[in-house]
Amino acid sequence: MSKRIKNCEICKLNFDVMYRIQYKNPKTWVFVCKTCLLSVKKDNANYKYGGTWKR
Ligand SMILES: [Zn+2]
Repeated sequence: MSKRIKNCEICKLNFDVMYRIQYKNPKTWVFVCKTCLLSVKKDNANYKYGGTWKR
């Protein structure tokens, strides 16, 4: 059994629910928490939502 741990790309903290997004160039998929999602999403032309990940 492997335990999957994901930390927020931006604040580096660990959460039970993570959001898969693109928010900058070059466009790569990263996992962020809801708080960081909302802050990078605002007025961001590079923002793209790719799903929700739950522990
Ligand atoms: Zn975060």
